Amino acid sequence: MIIILKPKANEEKVRDLIKRLERMELSINYSEGATTTVIGLIGDTSAIDMEILRAHEIVADVKRITEPYKAANRKFHPDDTIIEVAGHKIGQGYFNVFAGPCSVESEEQIIAVAEAVKKSGAGFLRGGAFKPRTSPYSFQGLKEDGLKLLLKAKKATGMPIITEIMSELHLALFEDVDLIQVGARNMQNFTLLKELGRTRKPIFLKRGLSSTMEEFFMSAEYIMAEGNRNVILCERGIRTFEPSIRNNLDISAIPIVKRFSHLPIVIDPSHAAGTAWMVEPLSKAAIAAGADGLMIEVHNNPKEALSDGAQSLDFDEFSHVMEIIKERIAFEGKVMG
Ligand code: PEP
Ligand code: MN
Repeated sequence: MIIILKPKANEEKVRDLIKRLERMELSINYSEGATTTVIGLIGDTSAIDMEILRAHEIVADVKRITEPYKAANRKFHPDDTIIEVAGHKIGQGYFNVFAGPCSVESEEQIIAVAEAVKKSGAGFLRGGAFKPRTSPYSFQGLKEDGLKLLLKAKKATGMPIITEIMSELHLALFEDVDLIQVGARNMQNFTLLKELGRTRKPIFLKRGLSSTMEEFFMSAEYIMAEGNRNVILCERGIRTFEPSIRNNLDISAIPIVKRFSHLPIVIDPSHAAGTAWMVEPLSKAAIAAGADGLMIEVHNNPKEALSDGAQSLDFDEFSHVMEIIKERIAFEGKVMG
């Protein structure tokens, strides 16, 4: 981190600031140039509050030259991490498809979808039981009953399940859930992230609607700093000025994750697009850019779905997209994990 001082900064105040920084066990590199004076900080600067430093009367600006995340950072873990969940591998050439309805609606529905997505080659069954909805008047999910139905579908098909947690108070209910999803709206629910960090459950962390990549990595860091290293990242579209699509799929998130982190990155084209017809081209783009998996919403009868019907594929559409996915991942030298 470097601190750029204001021209003609009071020398006594500069000495005070340096003393304060040295007390934080940082090595100081003071460099006085013809026009600019900078203080270089060497050591662990992750706990430094940049805004407080910036507000100091002798400071012109503060810049980080290393990323504030450590556990999620590729610099400290050069090899890709492979996350293992219920016998499946994700990352470093192992690709996975997480498919199922937006919401669990009934036993018949979730079992029919589980059988169909399994037949087409998906590795995981997804389905929301606790649903974060924009309107409090929309269907909120079957909650605990929804979890029970997912577990029935798991038993009937042998598929591992992934479902969203909305509160740390529900953690005990998720014991038999294979992969716990943190939804976009909870990406910065730090209490929830810390609690999940204290478990050893694999976590599927979705990027917030308006989060920067650094904020995304910092949320992964919250989980990992508590000791849980089993984190899968998921880009699901971000808010932009374009009104014709639900969100904008940020394909550049994939190379950014690959460069700065060692964690696997999954793409959710369904929530990005908001329409079923766009799932296929976005899936192809995600695979070409290096994604480690896809999360795709599939429904037995999308027109009647209780949530996200417009973006859900029916069984035939999903089977077609899966054929393309299998072809494309083979082309990239990857295998289903
Ligand atoms: C979901 O996966 O159904 C969901 C609500 O996703 P997101 O948090 O990305 O909106
Ligand atoms: Mn959904």
